[in-house]
Amino acid sequence: MLKFDHVSKRYPDAGDALVDVSFHLARGEMAFLTGHSGAGKSTLLKLIAMMETCSRGHVLLDGQNLNRISERQVPYLRRNLGLIFQDYKLLLDRTVFDNVALPLVISGYGHQDIAKRVRAALDKVGLLGKEKKYPLALSGGEQQRVGIARAVVNKPRLILADEPTGNLDPELSAEVMHLFEQFQQVGVSVLIASHDIDLITRMGYRMLVLDHGHLVKG
Ligand code: ADP
Ligand code: ADP
Repeated sequence: MLKFDHVSKRYPDAGDALVDVSFHLARGEMAFLTGHSGAGKSTLLKLIAMMETCSRGHVLLDGQNLNRISERQVPYLRRNLGLIFQDYKLLLDRTVFDNVALPLVISGYGHQDIAKRVRAALDKVGLLGKEKKYPLALSGGEQQRVGIARAVVNKPRLILADEPTGNLDPELSAEVMHLFEQFQQVGVSVLIASHDIDLITRMGYRMLVLDHGHLVKG
């Protein structure tokens, strides 16, 4: 499903953010990405999300070489990805419903289809009944669950999360991680960058460890 083949990334006027990174993530596999601040975690996720391109090697997503895609294809390929951020990135002047509906509106779905899919996504994250609320009326854990509903509403094959529990207390973090497990159990691949070593060690999934851009454990 996802393959890094000898991938290096150097930013202009900066050192190497990633050096000769190779790994494979299977369909339905869940893995954590960890390492010190500046180790290259966000860069690795950005390469998959097509927000950056690699300097050497190849990133393959469902067999597609991401170096070879045109700017025009990017939005279509991104629909197969569910992106989740530490700071949720919700639109604060829109309701929960509208936030979750956004990817479907962009994809051009009709009203009834959108309503059905948004409710199904909110149901999965335990937020049915909060459609009309605004993000700031929700707790941090609930806001992140809105972010997760928005990420999965398009039924992506791969979920990418960058420090999704960075702003949550341990109990809420465990709940959010449990949600990821539920998506993994229905065949979605999940890659989560996280500093929360205690939690991810307890969960017992594969751990990819970056150290100064080198993958030292895969
Ligand atoms: P992490 O997510 O593990 O903290 P990053 O991928 O953000 O690591 O950063 C890896 C390295 O690349 C760091 O040295 C960082 O300063 C550098 N870096 C990240 N983004 C850029 C950029 N846009 N331009 C230049 N250097 C960058
Ligand atoms: P992280 O939480 O991944 O450590 P940072 O706070 O280091 O992120 O960086 C925030 C943003 O700035 C990221 O998008 C990262 O790619 C970018 N960035 C990091 N280092 C640099 C740099 N040296 N030059 C330009 N942009 C950078």
